[in-house]
Amino acid sequence: MKYWDKRMETLPRAGIEALQLERLRATVSRALLTPFYKPLLEKAGVTGPESICSLADISKLPFTSKNDLRDAYPFGLLSCPRAELVRLHASSGTTGTPTVIYQTRADLDRWTDFLARSVTAPGAGPEDVFQNMITYGLFTGGLGMHYGAERAGMLVIPAGPGNVGRQLMLMKDFGTTTVHATPSFMLHLQSKMADEGVARSSLSLKRAYCGAEPYSEDTRRKIESMLGIDVYNSYGLSEMNGPGLAFECSFKDGMHVWEDGFLLEVIDPDTGLPVPDGERGELVFTILCRDAMPILRYRTHDLSSVIPGDCPCGRTHRRIARIMGRTDDMLIVNGVNVFPSQVEEVLMRMPEVGTNWLIVVEKEGSLDRLTVKTEVQPNMFADDSRPLNALRDRVREKLQASITIGARVELHEPGSLPISEGKAKRVLDTRPKL
Ligand code: AMP
Ligand code: ZN
Repeated sequence: MKYWDKRMETLPRAGIEALQLERLRATVSRALLTPFYKPLLEKAGVTGPESICSLADISKLPFTSKNDLRDAYPFGLLSCPRAELVRLHASSGTTGTPTVIYQTRADLDRWTDFLARSVTAPGAGPEDVFQNMITYGLFTGGLGMHYGAERAGMLVIPAGPGNVGRQLMLMKDFGTTTVHATPSFMLHLQSKMADEGVARSSLSLKRAYCGAEPYSEDTRRKIESMLGIDVYNSYGLSEMNGPGLAFECSFKDGMHVWEDGFLLEVIDPDTGLPVPDGERGELVFTILCRDAMPILRYRTHDLSSVIPGDCPCGRTHRRIARIMGRTDDMLIVNGVNVFPSQVEEVLMRMPEVGTNWLIVVEKEGSLDRLTVKTEVQPNMFADDSRPLNALRDRVREKLQASITIGARVELHEPGSLPISEGKAKRVLDTRPKL
Protein backbone atom coordinates (compact mmCIF):
# COMPACT_ATOMS: atom_id res chain seq x y z
CA MET A 1 0.00 0.00 0.00
CA LYS A 2 1.39 3.37 -0.99
CA TYR A 3 0.87 6.44 1.19
CA TRP A 4 2.15 9.98 0.92
CA ASP A 5 1.68 10.82 4.58
CA LYS A 6 0.99 7.51 6.28
CA ARG A 7 0.68 8.91 9.78
CA MET A 8 -1.97 11.45 8.79
CA GLU A 9 -3.76 9.19 6.33
CA THR A 10 -4.16 6.42 8.91
CA LEU A 11 -4.63 8.58 12.01
CA PRO A 12 -7.25 7.01 14.32
CA ARG A 13 -10.64 8.75 14.17
CA ALA A 14 -10.21 10.33 17.60
CA GLY A 15 -7.01 11.97 16.38
CA ILE A 16 -8.66 13.24 13.22
CA GLU A 17 -11.55 14.67 15.20
CA ALA A 18 -9.27 16.36 17.72
CA LEU A 19 -7.38 18.00 14.86
CA GLN A 20 -10.62 19.04 13.22
CA LEU A 21 -11.85 20.71 16.38
CA GLU A 22 -8.60 22.60 16.85
CA ARG A 23 -8.59 23.71 13.21
CA LEU A 24 -12.27 24.58 13.19
CA ARG A 25 -11.71 26.92 16.11
CA ALA A 26 -8.79 28.57 14.32
CA THR A 27 -10.92 28.86 11.18
CA VAL A 28 -13.71 30.56 13.11
CA SER A 29 -11.20 33.05 14.52
CA ARG A 30 -10.05 33.85 11.01
CA ALA A 31 -13.62 34.10 9.71
CA LEU A 32 -14.28 36.73 12.37
CA LEU A 33 -11.59 38.85 10.68
CA THR A 34 -13.56 39.01 7.42
CA PRO A 35 -16.12 41.72 6.65
CA PHE A 36 -18.43 39.00 5.30
CA TYR A 37 -18.55 36.55 8.22
CA LYS A 38 -18.05 38.91 11.17
CA PRO A 39 -21.65 40.19 11.35
CA LEU A 40 -23.11 36.78 10.52
CA LEU A 41 -21.15 35.02 13.23
CA GLU A 42 -21.87 37.69 15.82
CA LYS A 43 -25.56 37.44 15.03
CA ALA A 44 -25.32 33.69 15.62
CA GLY A 45 -23.68 34.33 19.00
CA VAL A 46 -20.27 33.11 17.86
CA THR A 47 -17.76 35.57 19.23
CA GLY A 48 -14.54 33.57 19.11
CA PRO A 49 -13.03 30.10 19.23
CA GLU A 50 -14.45 29.64 22.73
CA SER A 51 -17.93 29.44 21.16
CA ILE A 52 -16.94 26.15 19.50
CA CYS A 53 -16.63 23.46 22.19
CA SER A 54 -17.21 20.37 20.08
CA LEU A 55 -17.54 19.45 16.41
CA ALA A 56 -21.31 19.39 16.89
CA ASP A 57 -21.12 23.14 17.46
CA ILE A 58 -20.62 23.50 13.72
CA SER A 59 -24.41 23.73 13.63
CA LYS A 60 -24.08 27.22 15.17
CA LEU A 61 -22.25 28.44 12.08
CA PRO A 62 -24.02 29.87 9.03
CA PHE A 63 -24.07 28.07 5.69
CA THR A 64 -22.26 29.73 2.78
CA SER A 65 -23.56 29.74 -0.80
CA LYS A 66 -22.03 30.52 -4.16
CA ASN A 67 -24.10 33.69 -4.18
CA ASP A 68 -22.49 34.78 -0.90
CA LEU A 69 -19.08 34.44 -2.51
CA ARG A 70 -20.31 36.47 -5.44
CA ASP A 71 -21.61 39.19 -3.15
CA ALA A 72 -18.29 39.25 -1.27
CA TYR A 73 -16.42 39.63 -4.60
CA PRO A 74 -13.63 40.57 -4.90
CA PHE A 75 -12.10 40.80 -1.39
CA GLY A 76 -14.91 40.46 1.19
CA LEU A 77 -13.77 37.05 2.41
CA LEU A 78 -10.10 37.78 2.85
CA SER A 79 -8.71 37.13 6.30
CA CYS A 80 -5.11 38.15 5.70
CA PRO A 81 -3.33 41.21 4.29
CA ARG A 82 -3.30 41.25 0.51
CA ALA A 83 0.49 41.23 0.47
CA GLU A 84 0.39 37.67 1.84
CA LEU A 85 -1.52 36.34 -1.17
CA VAL A 86 0.43 34.45 -3.80
CA ARG A 87 -2.26 32.87 -5.99
CA LEU A 88 -5.85 33.22 -7.06
CA HIS A 89 -8.16 30.88 -8.91
CA ALA A 90 -11.72 31.37 -10.06
CA SER A 91 -14.78 29.41 -11.00
CA SER A 92 -18.04 30.49 -12.57
CA GLY A 93 -20.57 32.20 -10.35
CA THR A 94 -24.29 31.81 -10.80
CA THR A 95 -24.18 34.92 -12.99
CA GLY A 96 -21.32 36.64 -14.76
CA THR A 97 -19.43 37.40 -11.53
CA PRO A 98 -16.92 34.64 -10.87
CA THR A 99 -16.14 33.25 -7.44
CA VAL A 100 -12.52 33.88 -6.60
CA ILE A 101 -10.37 31.90 -4.18
CA TYR A 102 -7.10 33.19 -2.73
CA GLN A 103 -4.13 31.35 -1.30
CA THR A 104 -1.14 32.36 0.79
CA ARG A 105 2.17 30.53 0.35
CA ALA A 106 1.35 28.28 3.32
CA ASP A 107 -2.12 27.58 1.90
CA LEU A 108 -0.62 26.53 -1.44
CA ASP A 109 1.83 24.31 0.35
CA ARG A 110 -0.97 22.53 2.23
CA TRP A 111 -3.12 22.19 -0.91
CA THR A 112 -0.18 20.73 -2.83
CA ASP A 113 0.31 18.23 -0.05
CA PHE A 114 -3.33 17.09 -0.22
CA LEU A 115 -2.83 16.62 -3.95
CA ALA A 116 0.41 14.70 -3.51
CA ARG A 117 -1.52 12.47 -1.10
CA SER A 118 -4.31 12.08 -3.66
CA VAL A 119 -2.18 11.20 -6.67
CA THR A 120 -0.19 8.71 -4.57
CA ALA A 121 -3.26 6.89 -3.16
CA PRO A 122 -3.92 4.85 -6.35
CA GLY A 123 -0.28 3.75 -6.36
CA ALA A 124 1.57 6.29 -8.52
CA GLY A 125 5.00 7.62 -7.55
CA PRO A 126 8.34 8.99 -8.75
CA GLU A 127 8.65 6.27 -11.39
CA ASP A 128 5.56 7.65 -13.15
CA VAL A 129 5.12 10.15 -15.97
CA PHE A 130 2.05 12.32 -15.42
CA GLN A 131 0.31 14.06 -18.31
CA ASN A 132 -2.06 16.76 -17.14
CA MET A 133 -4.71 17.06 -19.87
CA ILE A 134 -6.83 19.60 -18.02
CA THR A 135 -7.23 23.35 -18.47
CA TYR A 136 -4.53 25.46 -16.85
CA GLY A 137 -5.26 29.12 -16.04
CA LEU A 138 -7.96 30.15 -13.61
CA PHE A 139 -9.32 26.60 -13.34
CA THR A 140 -7.89 24.84 -10.29
CA GLY A 141 -7.39 21.46 -11.95
CA GLY A 142 -4.43 22.52 -14.08
CA LEU A 143 -1.93 24.18 -11.75
CA GLY A 144 -3.27 22.41 -8.67
CA MET A 145 -2.78 18.90 -9.95
CA HIS A 146 0.44 19.92 -11.66
CA TYR A 147 2.15 20.92 -8.42
CA GLY A 148 0.70 17.94 -6.54
CA ALA A 149 2.06 15.42 -9.03
CA GLU A 150 5.39 17.23 -9.09
CA ARG A 151 5.59 17.09 -5.31
CA ALA A 152 4.83 13.37 -5.43
CA GLY A 153 7.96 13.10 -7.56
CA MET A 154 6.43 12.36 -10.94
CA LEU A 155 7.67 13.76 -14.22
CA VAL A 156 4.83 16.15 -15.08
CA ILE A 157 3.87 17.06 -18.64
CA PRO A 158 1.73 20.23 -18.56
CA ALA A 159 -0.12 19.30 -21.75
CA GLY A 160 -3.37 21.16 -21.07
CA PRO A 161 -6.60 20.01 -22.74
CA GLY A 162 -7.50 19.26 -26.37
CA ASN A 163 -5.34 18.41 -29.36
CA VAL A 164 -5.61 14.63 -29.32
CA GLY A 165 -2.81 14.15 -31.87
CA ARG A 166 -0.31 16.00 -29.74
CA GLN A 167 -1.49 14.32 -26.53
CA LEU A 168 -0.90 10.90 -28.07
CA MET A 169 2.51 11.95 -29.36
CA LEU A 170 3.52 13.13 -25.88
CA MET A 171 2.24 9.90 -24.36
CA LYS A 172 4.19 7.80 -26.80
CA ASP A 173 7.44 9.77 -26.76
CA PHE A 174 7.69 10.25 -23.01
CA GLY A 175 6.11 7.03 -21.81
CA THR A 176 3.19 8.62 -19.96
CA THR A 177 1.81 6.21 -17.36
CA THR A 178 -0.75 8.43 -15.60
CA VAL A 179 -3.11 11.07 -16.95
CA HIS A 180 -5.52 13.57 -15.48
CA ALA A 181 -8.52 14.44 -17.67
CA THR A 182 -12.26 14.76 -17.76
CA PRO A 183 -13.92 11.39 -18.39
CA SER A 184 -15.41 12.73 -21.64
CA PHE A 185 -11.97 13.70 -22.89
CA MET A 186 -10.70 10.18 -22.15
CA LEU A 187 -13.52 8.72 -24.28
CA HIS A 188 -12.80 11.24 -27.01
CA LEU A 189 -9.10 10.44 -26.98
CA GLN A 190 -9.78 6.74 -27.18
CA SER A 191 -12.16 7.20 -30.12
CA LYS A 192 -9.48 9.11 -32.08
CA MET A 193 -6.59 6.73 -31.52
CA ALA A 194 -7.22 4.67 -34.64
CA ASP A 195 -7.51 7.83 -36.82
CA GLU A 196 -4.25 9.07 -35.38
CA GLY A 197 -2.60 5.76 -36.17
CA VAL A 198 -1.65 5.14 -32.54
CA ALA A 199 -1.80 1.57 -31.29
CA ARG A 200 -2.57 0.94 -27.63
CA SER A 201 0.52 -1.24 -27.45
CA SER A 202 2.73 1.78 -28.24
CA LEU A 203 1.58 3.52 -25.03
CA SER A 204 2.65 2.85 -21.44
CA LEU A 205 -0.59 4.17 -19.98
CA LYS A 206 -1.64 2.57 -16.66
CA ARG A 207 -4.13 4.86 -15.02
CA ALA A 208 -6.32 7.95 -15.41
CA TYR A 209 -7.51 10.34 -12.74
CA CYS A 210 -10.91 11.56 -13.90
CA GLY A 211 -13.04 14.29 -12.41
CA ALA A 212 -14.39 17.82 -12.90
CA GLU A 213 -17.71 16.47 -14.17
CA PRO A 214 -20.16 13.73 -13.21
CA TYR A 215 -19.80 10.28 -14.75
CA SER A 216 -21.20 6.87 -14.04
CA GLU A 217 -19.64 3.60 -12.96
CA ASP A 218 -20.43 2.33 -16.48
CA THR A 219 -18.42 5.17 -18.02
CA ARG A 220 -15.53 4.34 -15.73
CA ARG A 221 -15.65 0.69 -16.82
CA LYS A 222 -15.93 1.68 -20.47
CA ILE A 223 -12.78 3.83 -20.32
CA GLU A 224 -10.99 1.12 -18.36
CA SER A 225 -11.81 -1.69 -20.75
CA MET A 226 -11.28 0.30 -23.94
CA LEU A 227 -7.87 1.52 -22.85
CA GLY A 228 -6.84 -1.30 -20.56
CA ILE A 229 -6.18 1.07 -17.63
CA ASP A 230 -7.53 1.85 -14.16
CA VAL A 231 -9.66 4.96 -13.72
CA TYR A 232 -9.80 6.71 -10.35
CA ASN A 233 -12.41 9.28 -9.36
CA SER A 234 -11.24 12.72 -8.25
CA TYR A 235 -13.62 15.24 -6.69
CA GLY A 236 -13.13 18.83 -5.72
CA LEU A 237 -14.46 22.33 -6.16
CA SER A 238 -12.75 25.69 -6.33
CA GLU A 239 -14.27 26.86 -3.05
CA MET A 240 -12.40 23.99 -1.32
CA ASN A 241 -9.22 24.76 -3.32
CA GLY A 242 -10.10 22.46 -6.22
CA PRO A 243 -8.98 18.86 -6.70
CA GLY A 244 -7.35 17.21 -3.69
CA LEU A 245 -10.53 17.28 -1.59
CA ALA A 246 -11.62 13.66 -2.16
CA PHE A 247 -9.84 10.96 -4.13
CA GLU A 248 -10.08 7.24 -4.68
CA CYS A 249 -7.43 4.86 -3.40
CA SER A 250 -6.39 1.65 -5.14
CA PHE A 251 -9.63 -0.06 -4.01
CA LYS A 252 -11.76 2.27 -6.19
CA ASP A 253 -14.69 2.06 -3.79
CA GLY A 254 -15.54 5.69 -3.00
CA MET A 255 -13.39 8.77 -2.51
CA HIS A 256 -11.53 9.44 0.74
CA VAL A 257 -12.23 12.99 1.91
CA TRP A 258 -9.04 14.41 3.48
CA GLU A 259 -10.71 15.17 6.76
CA ASP A 260 -7.74 16.82 8.45
CA GLY A 261 -8.21 19.64 5.93
CA PHE A 262 -11.94 19.61 5.20
CA LEU A 263 -14.86 19.14 7.53
CA LEU A 264 -17.56 17.13 5.79
CA GLU A 265 -21.29 17.25 6.48
CA VAL A 266 -24.01 15.50 4.51
CA ILE A 267 -27.32 17.27 4.96
CA ASP A 268 -30.91 17.07 3.86
CA PRO A 269 -30.98 19.95 1.35
CA ASP A 270 -34.46 21.02 2.48
CA THR A 271 -34.02 21.02 6.25
CA GLY A 272 -30.27 21.57 6.51
CA LEU A 273 -30.10 18.75 9.08
CA PRO A 274 -27.53 15.94 8.91
CA VAL A 275 -28.50 12.64 7.27
CA PRO A 276 -27.13 9.29 8.54
CA ASP A 277 -24.15 7.61 6.85
CA GLY A 278 -25.18 5.70 3.74
CA GLU A 279 -28.04 8.07 3.00
CA ARG A 280 -27.96 10.49 0.12
CA GLY A 281 -27.76 14.18 0.89
CA GLU A 282 -26.06 17.41 -0.10
CA LEU A 283 -22.32 17.63 0.60
CA VAL A 284 -21.32 20.59 2.75
CA PHE A 285 -17.67 21.41 3.44
CA THR A 286 -15.77 23.72 5.78
CA ILE A 287 -12.17 24.32 4.79
CA LEU A 288 -9.80 23.90 7.74
CA CYS A 289 -6.52 24.46 5.93
CA ARG A 290 -6.63 27.90 4.33
CA ASP A 291 -5.46 31.08 6.05
CA ALA A 292 -6.25 33.53 3.25
CA MET A 293 -9.91 32.75 2.90
CA PRO A 294 -12.02 30.75 5.32
CA ILE A 295 -15.24 29.28 3.98
CA LEU A 296 -17.69 27.85 6.48
CA ARG A 297 -20.25 25.15 5.67
CA TYR A 298 -20.18 25.61 1.91
CA ARG A 299 -23.31 24.25 0.22
CA THR A 300 -21.93 22.37 -2.80
CA HIS A 301 -25.33 21.35 -4.21
CA ASP A 302 -23.64 18.03 -5.02
CA LEU A 303 -25.53 14.92 -3.92
CA SER A 304 -23.68 11.94 -2.49
CA SER A 305 -23.47 9.83 0.67
CA VAL A 306 -20.89 8.67 3.18
CA ILE A 307 -19.91 5.04 2.55
CA PRO A 308 -20.20 3.29 5.93
CA GLY A 309 -17.38 1.07 7.14
CA ASP A 310 -13.62 0.97 6.85
CA CYS A 311 -11.65 0.89 3.64
CA PRO A 312 -9.24 -2.05 3.29
CA CYS A 313 -6.47 0.42 2.38
CA GLY A 314 -6.17 1.39 6.04
CA ARG A 315 -6.96 5.06 5.54
CA THR A 316 -9.19 6.36 8.30
CA HIS A 317 -10.63 9.26 6.34
CA ARG A 318 -14.28 8.68 5.43
CA ARG A 319 -15.28 7.92 1.86
CA ILE A 320 -18.01 9.50 -0.22
CA ALA A 321 -19.84 7.80 -3.08
CA ARG A 322 -19.67 8.96 -6.68
CA ILE A 323 -21.59 12.26 -7.12
CA MET A 324 -25.18 11.31 -7.92
CA GLY A 325 -26.54 14.62 -9.14
CA ARG A 326 -27.11 18.22 -8.12
CA THR A 327 -29.81 20.07 -6.26
CA ASP A 328 -29.62 23.11 -8.52
CA ASP A 329 -29.67 23.78 -12.25
CA MET A 330 -25.90 24.03 -12.76
CA LEU A 331 -24.78 22.30 -15.95
CA ILE A 332 -21.31 20.89 -16.44
CA VAL A 333 -20.30 21.15 -20.08
CA ASN A 334 -16.99 19.50 -20.95
CA GLY A 335 -15.96 19.97 -17.34
CA VAL A 336 -16.90 23.65 -17.14
CA ASN A 337 -19.69 24.88 -14.87
CA VAL A 338 -22.45 26.75 -16.65
CA PHE A 339 -25.42 28.30 -14.90
CA PRO A 340 -28.51 29.06 -17.01
CA SER A 341 -28.66 32.40 -15.15
CA GLN A 342 -25.32 33.40 -16.73
CA VAL A 343 -26.77 32.85 -20.19
CA GLU A 344 -29.90 34.73 -19.25
CA GLU A 345 -27.88 37.67 -17.99
CA VAL A 346 -25.98 37.97 -21.27
CA LEU A 347 -29.10 37.67 -23.43
CA MET A 348 -31.27 40.03 -21.44
CA ARG A 349 -28.68 42.79 -21.63
CA MET A 350 -29.08 42.88 -25.41
CA PRO A 351 -32.11 44.89 -26.55
CA GLU A 352 -32.31 43.08 -29.91
CA VAL A 353 -32.93 39.79 -28.14
CA GLY A 354 -36.47 38.59 -27.39
CA THR A 355 -37.64 37.03 -24.16
CA ASN A 356 -37.80 33.36 -25.08
CA TRP A 357 -34.58 31.36 -25.12
CA LEU A 358 -33.37 27.81 -24.67
CA ILE A 359 -30.07 26.14 -23.85
CA VAL A 360 -29.51 22.80 -25.58
CA VAL A 361 -26.76 20.45 -24.38
CA GLU A 362 -26.06 17.31 -26.38
CA LYS A 363 -23.32 14.81 -27.03
CA GLU A 364 -21.27 15.21 -30.19
CA GLY A 365 -19.15 12.08 -30.22
CA SER A 366 -17.80 11.85 -26.68
CA LEU A 367 -17.78 15.59 -26.03
CA ASP A 368 -20.57 17.93 -25.00
CA ARG A 369 -21.98 20.56 -27.31
CA LEU A 370 -23.77 23.67 -26.07
CA THR A 371 -26.23 25.59 -28.24
CA VAL A 372 -28.04 28.73 -27.16
CA LYS A 373 -31.23 29.37 -29.12
CA THR A 374 -32.88 32.71 -28.68
CA GLU A 375 -35.69 34.64 -30.25
CA VAL A 376 -34.88 38.15 -31.46
CA GLN A 377 -36.98 41.27 -32.06
CA PRO A 378 -39.18 41.11 -35.25
CA ASN A 379 -37.36 43.98 -36.98
CA MET A 380 -34.14 41.91 -37.05
CA PHE A 381 -35.54 39.65 -39.76
CA ALA A 382 -35.28 42.13 -42.65
CA ASP A 383 -34.01 41.51 -46.18
CA ASP A 384 -30.54 42.47 -45.15
CA SER A 385 -29.07 39.58 -43.13
CA ARG A 386 -25.99 41.49 -42.01
CA PRO A 387 -27.42 42.89 -38.75
CA LEU A 388 -28.60 39.40 -37.83
CA ASN A 389 -25.19 37.89 -38.49
CA ALA A 390 -23.52 40.68 -36.54
CA LEU A 391 -25.89 40.08 -33.63
CA ARG A 392 -25.15 36.35 -33.68
CA ASP A 393 -21.43 37.08 -33.47
CA ARG A 394 -21.96 39.52 -30.63
CA VAL A 395 -24.09 37.06 -28.63
CA ARG A 396 -21.46 34.40 -29.18
CA GLU A 397 -18.64 36.68 -28.00
CA LYS A 398 -20.52 37.87 -24.93
CA LEU A 399 -21.45 34.32 -24.01
CA GLN A 400 -17.88 33.17 -24.41
CA ALA A 401 -16.73 36.00 -22.14
CA SER A 402 -19.25 35.06 -19.47
CA ILE A 403 -19.27 31.27 -19.47
CA THR A 404 -15.68 30.86 -20.77
CA ILE A 405 -16.55 28.16 -23.30
CA GLY A 406 -17.74 28.38 -26.90
CA ALA A 407 -21.45 27.98 -27.62
CA ARG A 408 -23.29 27.73 -30.90
CA VAL A 409 -25.82 30.53 -31.20
CA GLU A 410 -29.07 30.24 -33.13
CA LEU A 411 -31.33 33.26 -33.62
CA HIS A 412 -35.02 32.58 -34.14
CA GLU A 413 -38.07 34.58 -35.17
CA PRO A 414 -40.38 35.72 -32.38
CA GLY A 415 -42.83 33.02 -31.33
CA SER A 416 -40.88 30.19 -32.93
CA LEU A 417 -39.30 28.58 -29.87
CA PRO A 418 -41.52 26.29 -27.79
CA ILE A 419 -43.34 27.92 -24.88
CA SER A 420 -43.91 25.75 -21.86
CA GLU A 421 -47.00 26.09 -19.77
CA GLY A 422 -46.09 27.27 -16.29
CA LYS A 423 -42.45 27.52 -15.36
CA ALA A 424 -40.28 28.25 -18.40
CA LYS A 425 -38.09 25.36 -19.45
CA ARG A 426 -34.72 26.86 -20.26
CA VAL A 427 -32.55 23.78 -20.58
CA LEU A 428 -32.84 20.79 -22.86
CA ASP A 429 -30.13 18.35 -21.86
CA THR A 430 -30.22 15.33 -24.15
CA ARG A 431 -26.99 13.76 -22.91
CA PRO A 432 -27.41 10.18 -21.67
CA LYS A 433 -28.22 10.14 -17.97
CA LEU A 434 -25.73 8.80 -15.41
P1 AMP B 1 -15.25 23.89 -10.05
O1 AMP B 1 -15.48 24.75 -8.87
O2 AMP B 1 -15.26 24.64 -11.35
O3 AMP B 1 -14.02 23.04 -9.90
O4 AMP B 1 -16.49 22.88 -10.14
C1 AMP B 1 -16.79 22.02 -9.06
C2 AMP B 1 -17.97 21.14 -9.38
O5 AMP B 1 -17.62 20.19 -10.42
C3 AMP B 1 -18.39 20.29 -8.21
O6 AMP B 1 -19.21 21.01 -7.31
C4 AMP B 1 -19.11 19.14 -8.91
O7 AMP B 1 -20.44 19.51 -9.24
C5 AMP B 1 -18.31 18.96 -10.19
N1 AMP B 1 -17.34 17.87 -10.04
C6 AMP B 1 -16.03 17.97 -9.79
N2 AMP B 1 -15.47 16.73 -9.72
C7 AMP B 1 -16.46 15.83 -9.92
C8 AMP B 1 -16.54 14.40 -9.93
N3 AMP B 1 -15.48 13.62 -9.77
N4 AMP B 1 -17.76 13.85 -10.13
C9 AMP B 1 -18.85 14.62 -10.29
N5 AMP B 1 -18.84 15.96 -10.31
C10 AMP B 1 -17.66 16.57 -10.11
ZN1 ZN C 1 -9.09 3.37 0.67
